[in-house]
Amino acid sequence: MKSLIKAKREPGIWMDDAPVPTYGVHEVLIKIHKTAICGTDIHIYTWDAWAQATIPVPMIIGHEFFGEIVGLGSEVQGLHIGQRVSGEGHITCGICRNCRAGRQHLCRNTQGVGVHRQGCFAEYLALPASNVQPLPDDVTADQAAILDPFGNAAHCALSFNLIGEDVLITGAGPIGMMAVAIARHAGARHIVISDVNDYRLALARKMGATRAINVKHTRLQNTMDELGMLEGFDVGMEMSGNPIALNDMIKTMNHGGKVALLGIPPQETAIDWNQVIFKGLIIKGIYGREMYETWYKMIAMFQSGLDLSSVITHHFAVDDFQQAFQVMASGQSGKVILDWT
Ligand code: NAD
Ligand code: ZN
Repeated sequence: MKSLIKAKREPGIWMDDAPVPTYGVHEVLIKIHKTAICGTDIHIYTWDAWAQATIPVPMIIGHEFFGEIVGLGSEVQGLHIGQRVSGEGHITCGICRNCRAGRQHLCRNTQGVGVHRQGCFAEYLALPASNVQPLPDDVTADQAAILDPFGNAAHCALSFNLIGEDVLITGAGPIGMMAVAIARHAGARHIVISDVNDYRLALARKMGATRAINVKHTRLQNTMDELGMLEGFDVGMEMSGNPIALNDMIKTMNHGGKVALLGIPPQETAIDWNQVIFKGLIIKGIYGREMYETWYKMIAMFQSGLDLSSVITHHFAVDDFQQAFQVMASGQSGKVILDWT
């Protein structure tokens, strides 16, 4: 089968043939129709320090997909051939304390599709049946292909009550943009998003941001003054991984504010702990999606009118993957979709 493979320990990604994966009795075989490129795939492409330490080579990468079930393991129940599906790319162990308590998103032994085991940038993917997300007919192929990053945004945004709250999102990457739309959908008052990239800030405005500010030349405090915000933000979602953005957030949160951290900062990033302590901030680290409550909520949000269409800015046939990776790496894009059909 055609696949995109991290074949060498150097920058790049290569298209090559690979065997169609075998699948176990509790697994399904999925024919891939569409995939989306994640920031993680760009780290693997550029072969940065994280990728060098994490990715065994050769590896078929990718974890954001939409497809159709074409093979069922003998023990699989409740799924059928031809079913439209996406899936959770975190494979959990099933035996640790959190898994057994139904908190699989906190599994200590998580394996990542397209990171530790074969990914979805291929014509076929084998996946445990329990990781499969069946899709109702009214969820489109494009919507389905971005459920994974939408899930990161939803996991963050739904961690705290947003109704009537003032929300700060730092980082207008695809996930930050989607968080804007969710916060709007959920009834937030002011949604301020920051970035240093005007292309992405424009997209965030389309998604419903009250203000989308470029922190290279606009101060957060000035925006708060303009909006008549007297105390500070009630909910923060850090989605840039940038230490300056994180510190700006900690500084502008109201007392008792709640902060969800998704962006991955350099390991020894410093923050002003006095702000955290004396303001009584609540800080929550976010990894992946809740299994499978986040998936339920995402589909329900699509069905209740959440519109993420503006976040998808580019489509490519898979044979044009080099161009697709370049667009994604340029920062001048939202989500980039590869078509495998
Ligand atoms: P992305 O890299 O596309 O977006 C990050 C954005 O932050 C970029 O648009 C960048 O211009 C912006 N930025 C840089 N400096 C900034 C600053 N000082 N202030 C405000 N914005 C600034 O990433 P993404 O795919 O949208 O993901 C968001 C973050 O979440 C990344 O750090 C990613 O590594 C991380 N992530 C975490 C998880 C998880 O499970 N915790 C999952 C996926 C992604
Ligand atoms: Zn586990």
